[in-house]
Amino acid sequence: MMRCPHCKHSSHTRSSRYLSDDTKETYYQCQNIFCSCTFKAIERVVRVISGPSISPSANRRPVKTSSLN
Ligand SMILES: [Zn+2]
Repeated sequence: MMRCPHCKHSSHTRSSRYLSDDTKETYYQCQNIFCSCTFKAIERVVRVISGPSISPSANRRPVKTSSLN
């Protein structure tokens, strides 16, 4: 949710897409029926406060092998 830049009411997300791994573009529509402003915003990760506790490779599922051979 982001406040409308014109009337300051809350808005709904209409659609979004990732521009890169850390940047997202979102289209919003104001919930105020007298405004209904549609606007676009860019959201970006600016700093990782605490890194992951496991490495990305540890998050993968083990490959199952069949025991019926
Ligand atoms: Zn508005």
